[in-house]
Amino acid sequence: MTDLAEILAATPWLLAACTFLVSLLVGSFLNVVIHRVPIMLEREWKAQAREMLVEPGRADENGKVDDRSDGSPERYNLLVPRSRCPRCNAEITALQNIPVVSWLLLGGKCASCRTSISVRYPIVEFATAVLSTAVVMHFGWHWQTVAALLFTWSLISLTVIDLDHTLLPDLITIPLLWLGLLLSLFWHAGLTAPAPTDPSSAILGAVCGYLILWTVYWAFKLATGKDGMGYGDFKLLGALGAWMGWQMLPLILLLSALTGAVIGIALIVLRGRDRNVPIPFGPYLAAAGWIALMWGPQIMGGYLTLTGLRH
Ligand SMILES: [Zn+2]
Repeated sequence: MTDLAEILAATPWLLAACTFLVSLLVGSFLNVVIHRVPIMLEREWKAQAREMLVEPGRADENGKVDDRSDGSPERYNLLVPRSRCPRCNAEITALQNIPVVSWLLLGGKCASCRTSISVRYPIVEFATAVLSTAVVMHFGWHWQTVAALLFTWSLISLTVIDLDHTLLPDLITIPLLWLGLLLSLFWHAGLTAPAPTDPSSAILGAVCGYLILWTVYWAFKLATGKDGMGYGDFKLLGALGAWMGWQMLPLILLLSALTGAVIGIALIVLRGRDRNVPIPFGPYLAAAGWIALMWGPQIMGGYLTLTGLRH
């Protein structure tokens, strides 16, 4: 094991290749997270709503309220049941579950009923592999690189879930926030990344990140009567602030506003998208957060030098 670690640390191309292959599998798991977490949450919310609505007398009679929306006795979480074709319910075998490769070999269709399977699955797997390899190449062989990988994988899941459901689940944003705060405890002078901030900056980053968007939300709501974004966005920016410190928040907001404006205008022009349909803000925050983790210090350094604030 130590030998393998030494070889990987000394051979960048081998480390890159191994990271790429392993993170294809992680991408496959992220597809499960992306698909199932919203369903798990919906079942939980329905169960809670039912519990509140059931009359007190009847609730006692019935005993425990069924916590499944469809009444099926099946357990449902990230591990069980096994993946199935949504159309014909055929179980997906291990051989049909090889990231990207299986999708290509099967021509993007279910092996039993030939229903087409969304190209999104291999895209998520491939994107996870590319971004993870970039992280490992950037930060090198270091235990904190694992934290940066967890950060990347959380942001990928949040991005796709938000695009699908305009939802950033607490199940992912809150642990991300805690992890960012915890990592700041391992900060020491001279350590650049991926735990680039000290505890005070992390705490302030978490609080300010949340409050900035909370303030924007209420200002927008009072001015227009509309919801501009959701509470998940506040928590996500809080988490990014915890990871990178309050100093990085302006850059993250600027980057996300820029990408948001560019993509938003492109969508309105290209697809005639209705301006009133809310475009989720989470993916832009996530993209900006990832860029800030990777190159934030360099971008900030370049900016300060350019404006003559630093020489
Ligand atoms: Zn099928």
